[in-house]
Amino acid sequence: MSLAAPLPASVPIPIRIPLRQVLPWAIFIGFLAVLALYFVGAEQGATSLVSGHYVHEFVHDARHLLGFPCH
Ligand SMILES: [Zn+2]
Repeated sequence: MSLAAPLPASVPIPIRIPLRQVLPWAIFIGFLAVLALYFVGAEQGATSLVSGHYVHEFVHDARHLLGFPCH
């Protein structure tokens, strides 16, 4: 006698994901990516949204990793 539960014969896997379901998430993820790119690359000086150097210092290594001019 086996203790394992029997496996179902087949599990349906959806092959297509409709574009209407993917598009809002793609736009949202794209917005987050652009926002992250802004904070890493341009959050400094005249374009700074947050006063001080806290954001710049927090993303400083990522800034150098991506090749943005820094110092
Ligand atoms: Zn630097």
